[in-house]
Amino acid sequence: MIGTQRTLGVGPPGSALLYTIASPVGPYYPTGFKAVSLEATTYAVRAWPGGVGNSKLGANYAPCIVPQMQAASRGFHQNLWLFEEGGEEWVTEVGTMNLFAAIVNKDGKKELMTAPLDGTILEGVTRDSILELARERLVPEGWEVNERRFSVRELAEADKEGRMLEVFGAGTAAVVSPVRNIGWKDSMINCGLEADKEAGPIAQRMKDWIEGIQYGDETHPWSFKI
Ligand SMILES: *Cc1c(COP(=O)(O)O)cnc(C)c1O
Repeated sequence: MIGTQRTLGVGPPGSALLYTIASPVGPYYPTGFKAVSLEATTYAVRAWPGGVGNSKLGANYAPCIVPQMQAASRGFHQNLWLFEEGGEEWVTEVGTMNLFAAIVNKDGKKELMTAPLDGTILEGVTRDSILELARERLVPEGWEVNERRFSVRELAEADKEGRMLEVFGAGTAAVVSPVRNIGWKDSMINCGLEADKEAGPIAQRMKDWIEGIQYGDETHPWSFKI
């Protein structure tokens, strides 16, 4: 959406043009999934309480480019956004995707979790779809599904204690994007993928379920045949 008023200045535009771009797209992963490596960014934040991180505004994306380039210069595919508060570094999002982590929690239960919608998280439709499918299809298998804060230290501990299952990003373009490892300060968190695998079972099933609904292979209230 672009303001078209013929003045320069800061203020609400009196006129604007809203563009919708529609085009065919190729497969995001032409040769199948490729798990990515993330660098946890500790010197910049993407969003903050009371800000506009929960909106798809152009202003939210330009500041992400330098941390992404810096992560790339150190051999990572993407950066992981943290928000530090109360002495903990909370995991928020990955690049321009929401993030899910699956661990065995301290009570021995399998848990799928993602950061809560506290105003700093983009309310992705893929995030919402994954939560709904997980509650419908994984909870009966004994999973806990939670929207809750979790710290990068909690992920590091789960890895160290053999409780890490998998981590993946979620967004419209790729549906899911599996994560192999996370560089955090001087350590590397292994996200539970076997060396010869590019996706864990939850990411794979979520992708299959969502694409099955999108392509109409599964009759579902979210998709309509026209
Ligand atoms: C677009 C976007 C997402 C994913 O949203 P979807 O509606 O699932 O495509 C997540 N986080 C950020 C920061 C985004 O810009």
